Amino acid sequence: MKIAVLSRNKSLYSTRRLVEECLNRGHEARVIDCLHCYMNITSAKPEIHYREEVLDGYDVVIPRIGASVTFYGSAVLRQFEMMGVFPVNESVAISRSRDKLRSLQLLARKGVGMPVTGFANKPDDVPELIKMVGGSPVVIKLLQGTQGIGVVLAETRKAAESVIEAFMGLKADILVQEYVKEAGGADIRCFVIGDKVIAAMKRQAVEGEFRSNLHRGGSASLVRITPEERRTAVQAAKAMGLNIAGVDLLRSGRGPLVMEVNSSPGLQGIETATGKNVAGMIINWTEKNQKPWKTRTKGR
Ligand code: ADP
Ligand code: GLU
Repeated sequence: MKIAVLSRNKSLYSTRRLVEECLNRGHEARVIDCLHCYMNITSAKPEIHYREEVLDGYDVVIPRIGASVTFYGSAVLRQFEMMGVFPVNESVAISRSRDKLRSLQLLARKGVGMPVTGFANKPDDVPELIKMVGGSPVVIKLLQGTQGIGVVLAETRKAAESVIEAFMGLKADILVQEYVKEAGGADIRCFVIGDKVIAAMKRQAVEGEFRSNLHRGGSASLVRITPEERRTAVQAAKAMGLNIAGVDLLRSGRGPLVMEVNSSPGLQGIETATGKNVAGMIINWTEKNQKPWKTRTKGR
């Protein structure tokens, strides 16, 4: 196969590992920086220009689009889809996953368990919004946040009201969520490929912190997950239309609750914690499932 890895930086761990496993299997692989792609979108014959050439003959595109280039990156990916190139994750599914609110609405529609969540745009009745999600303590999240930045735990109703009013005053989009105390500052990252969880790790927050992000000092370890957790993770990935996904779960008294579904899950943490060749498994899955013109959404 001739494979394009859509990534801004070929020295990133995940990008390097994917290329390495492609080459190990005798495939041709090349890292393409989406910001250097340009396209004539009015032409009846879609093509992608890259630096001084026209990209041609690709069978597969593996998108590793960072959050900051979601908009342009998904347009480039859509152009690949319009050329019949098989996307390991589709542009539409990636766009869905980048919008926290849209993701949670899709998951809710499919009956996937999640923390009780509310959102609002204007501070008309903040106390009512807090009551709706079960009262304090609550977690308040900036919709544009990543890596745990902009995720705040408000212990009391007063604190919650102040934080919500402050964020709304700054015109930031937020959601308000029930605080899942039983999770004990830990979450479970389930790595889904196709219809299986192929690896899972537990991330534990440092003492005195409730956010388990590795970027916030959390530590990762191997974990055994329950059949219910497996089912939930696979169902969440499917609801988003993702073939490859990192599904983050909280362990609660009422079963696994999905917090987030990542469309470009990092490989370093999970390969290190589990000792599994996750990049290799992605390429194996791709070999079996790749077919031209196979996108479900055709970029729509
Ligand atoms: P980000 O997308 O920025 O990583 P998350 O929504 O994943 O933000 O939240 C960061 C971390 O905070 C999670 O990994 C989890 O450990 C913790 N957390 C988030 N929401 C809740 C919640 N409702 N209850 C308990 N802990 C939470
Ligand atoms: N983009 C990373 C991922 O999806 C975030 C990991 C983190 O901060 O925990 O794996």
